[in-house]
Amino acid sequence: MSRKYSDLTLLKYLLYEVHQLSDLFAFDYFSHLDEEQTWLMIQSAAELADRDMFPYYQEMDRIGAHYDGKGNVSTPDQLKTIIQNAAEQGWIGAFASMDYGGMQLPAMVFSSAQHIFQAANNGVQGYLGLSAGAARLITSFGTAEQVKTFVEPIFAGTWQGTMALTEPQAGSSLTDLTASAQLTSAGHYLIKGQKIFISAGQHEACDNFVHLTLARIEGAPAGVKGISLFIIPKFRPTADGSLEYNDVFCAGEFQKMGQRCYSTTHLAFGDQNDCHGYLLGEPHKGLHYMFQMMNEARIGVGQTASSVALAAYLSALQYAKERTQGRLPSEKDPLKEPVPIIRHADVQRMLFTQKAIAEGALCLAMECNKLFDLEHVLTGDEKAKNKLLLEILTPIVKTYSAEHGLRAASLAIQVLGGYGYTVDFPAQQYFRDLKIMAIYEGTTGIQSLDLLGRKVTMENGAAAQILGETIMKTIEDSREYDALKEAGRELGLYLNMWQETTIQLLGHLKAGNLERYLADATIYMEMCSQIVIGWQWLKMAESAARLAAQNNTFYSQEFLQSRIQVLEFFMRYELPIVASHKKVLLDDKWLTNFQEWDLF
Ligand SMILES: Cc1cc2nc3c(=O)[nH]c(=O)nc-3n(C[C@H](O)[C@H](O)[C@H](O)COP(=O)(O)OP(=O)(O)OC[C@H]3O[C@@H](n4cnc5c(N)ncnc54)[C@H](O)[C@@H]3O)c2cc1C
Repeated sequence: MSRKYSDLTLLKYLLYEVHQLSDLFAFDYFSHLDEEQTWLMIQSAAELADRDMFPYYQEMDRIGAHYDGKGNVSTPDQLKTIIQNAAEQGWIGAFASMDYGGMQLPAMVFSSAQHIFQAANNGVQGYLGLSAGAARLITSFGTAEQVKTFVEPIFAGTWQGTMALTEPQAGSSLTDLTASAQLTSAGHYLIKGQKIFISAGQHEACDNFVHLTLARIEGAPAGVKGISLFIIPKFRPTADGSLEYNDVFCAGEFQKMGQRCYSTTHLAFGDQNDCHGYLLGEPHKGLHYMFQMMNEARIGVGQTASSVALAAYLSALQYAKERTQGRLPSEKDPLKEPVPIIRHADVQRMLFTQKAIAEGALCLAMECNKLFDLEHVLTGDEKAKNKLLLEILTPIVKTYSAEHGLRAASLAIQVLGGYGYTVDFPAQQYFRDLKIMAIYEGTTGIQSLDLLGRKVTMENGAAAQILGETIMKTIEDSREYDALKEAGRELGLYLNMWQETTIQLLGHLKAGNLERYLADATIYMEMCSQIVIGWQWLKMAESAARLAAQNNTFYSQEFLQSRIQVLEFFMRYELPIVASHKKVLLDDKWLTNFQEWDLF
């Protein structure tokens, strides 16, 4: 069942064995589904990706998206086919509740299809994912009329949903955004402002664009408390059911190093004083609402990074089995046949590293998707605990997958040697596509500040405590299997290191030294995320040991054994970095001793 760019055996294992999707079917909301049915849906998604997406991955990159100087952006023809076919199968709207015409799929299932699309052709999944997220924002906070007007065509794939936050002077710091909204006597707002870097803001595959846009209502308080959220279509529906131009002009398209078929636009709202915006929810709560889409997108970006890294790994693995070069160190006879490069220890190290990163990160994305599903069906204390765990894992899944996924993709190029650097192979494209994951939806620096500054301290450290307890529970469960005892013990030691480091760092916060507390937030993120990925590998290995003990025959012995092998690899080659991060984090001579002018 292994395919060139994704691995359905792995996906099935993560979904049904490691993260136990079937737990969800016991809740009313998901009780119309079962294992067989959900797997059939995922298989249809794989067929769609095999047919419509993967074969066009390199060609769509070559064609790219281009501005014509008159407000239009050309995109590859194949994009329209993909959006229409994916919409028809439900891969924009199936996640929504049946009340809104969806199939009430768990995020775990919806995201599994997305994972396949991301691995096959990540740029095109961007278009689908943005539409799905924008529609969900409208169903969560919009009026019945807004839902009726905007959601149906987005689900049908004829209108494109976007998120429009960034402005030239306000990227990481949304506090500084200035787009304005003025209430009219007719009830709508007149919008004015510039938004840059808006993904899917204009292209040829959809007839209309629904921009979920942040702006300030005139007279609103300064800062994030004065930001509201508006639905701004490019063409607005009129009373007679026709559409008229809504003064949203595409002023440009950014040419990028990767995701070249995924348009990134500069939008001008209200140049002719005729851009109507429709308030979503209540005034001044826009950023709070938008966080729903941003948090989902952060998990989505993390998952995309792991999916692309997995595709890069699978192509490198295939190449390493086929390419012959050199001989083993102990075999110097030039008359002997060269060996496939997969037999060289250094190539094996590179492949193991890629597998450990890509599959570990994908497993974490699936963990987050399950927490997301549970948040919607649990109640009381259980719901609150679940929410906190998801809160702390969100910046981690985004950041680890983006940063280490890029590292994995770089290793995939390295495995291919010179060919990896050429456009003949997709390795370089995977690498180019992956770089953006550490930038959009909040950069690595911003995610790290979120982890240490907000998530670790929230509710008196409750989220960090729950994370520690959850990891400890996996360690305890794994003790049942001899093959996992050592890995569990080591993970426990590193977990202690993280907890000690956190307590010591919090001392700076208590002493009022916020600058010192946050100075190395990105190193802290690195430390924490390695432990979290180690936890995910222990979970994967624990499921493998359980299935082996039950003499399961669906998964091959090699597949199950490889979970344990990669866990051991991760413990030896990746996790020890935690100790040196601890040293850096607790060293008071570092960073605080530097000054800006030391960089000049
Ligand atoms: C291809 C692409 C697609 C995008 N799609 C969208 C979209 O669909 N919708 C949308 O609204 N936006 C989108 N964006 C914008 C994206 O979210 C921003 O680029 C991102 O948030 C970073 O903002 P910036 O580029 O202004 O960088 P800056 O905010 O200027 O950051 C530059 C550097 O400074 C660091 N930095 C900034 N502030 C701090 C701080 N307080 N502490 C520590 N370090 C800091 C950052 O980590 C970064 O390394 C997209 C961007 C790109 C490139």
